Amino acid sequence: MTAVNAHTRLVGLIGWPVDHSLSPTMHNAAFEAMELNWVYLPLAVNPEVENQVSRAVLGLAALGFAGANITIPHKQAVMPYLDEITESAMSIGAVNTVHVAEDGRLKGDNTDAAGFLADLNEHNIDLREIDALVIGAGGAARAVIFALAQAGAHRITVLGRTPARAIQLVGAMQRQFPKIVFAAYPFDNAFETQLPRARFIVNCTPLGMTGHEDSLSNFVRGKFTPDQIIYDLVYGPRNTSLIDHAKECGARAFDGLGMLVHQGALSLEIWSGRPAPIEVMRRAAEARLGLSSPRP
Ligand code: NAP
Repeated sequence: MTAVNAHTRLVGLIGWPVDHSLSPTMHNAAFEAMELNWVYLPLAVNPEVENQVSRAVLGLAALGFAGANITIPHKQAVMPYLDEITESAMSIGAVNTVHVAEDGRLKGDNTDAAGFLADLNEHNIDLREIDALVIGAGGAARAVIFALAQAGAHRITVLGRTPARAIQLVGAMQRQFPKIVFAAYPFDNAFETQLPRARFIVNCTPLGMTGHEDSLSNFVRGKFTPDQIIYDLVYGPRNTSLIDHAKECGARAFDGLGMLVHQGALSLEIWSGRPAPIEVMRRAAEARLGLSSPRP
């Protein structure tokens, strides 16, 4: 890393917790490859402390930051403090990238949806007219549904643990994309009917992630078909049981590392105005995860 000095530009990740994030590793590797005197810092902002999010975001301009990524649980909370928000971030309802403009104005964007699409594009996955099943109804699901809708999906079904949240999400997306057929079902008892009809299945829950429960296996084991494509937003571990079950049935399956790398690369391009070294970022993330195996 270039020695930090008075000219070093700062960016960071505002979230809680931020300890295990791969973003500092990915971005600092990119800065080195780009020969930029920049540094990316984990910025733990406690949601329990009153006004902490607003102070942190407004402080970015005061401290001369070039920008920041925003992660759980602040992606929506930062929105009222920004001067501008892109149309896509407004549609998704969440900001994951803040850019501090020359004049100090804070501009909010969301690179999760575009990062997801960039990874699918890399794998030559065509979503036009596809019947998609989205598992989960949180922040990542919002970005994924927006991406699927933009890419021309025919039908998008959401399975949500909290039915009211899934219904609210589907209703908001239906208003934006009236031609797409949307549906919402409760999480557990709809797998049997909804899984077989979907061609593209995306896990947008933390199920299967290291340290989280893995109850998805109970619903999907032995149920996939070779014409289905499964995308797991989880990337730690890389071979989640969802991915293993999909491959056992002959389906194509991908983890979320590609999306992570692409959303980070797009954020870096917004801050720096330069093309991001995607392969450098990918290798750094893989090395941090302790992986040298080829991508699926
Ligand atoms: P979030 O806003 O907290 O939403 C999580 C969703 O999962 C909610 O709908 C939640 O249900 C559901 N859920 C949680 N535990 C569950 C359980 N035991 N059974 C059934 N459903 C459960 O989180 P998020 O930001 O959407 O992130 C979701 C996952 O995607 C995380 O693992 C995150 O690391 C990953 N992610 C990856 C990328 C990437 O670049 N690869 C980007 C963003 C997120 P309720 O609605 O009932 O709360």
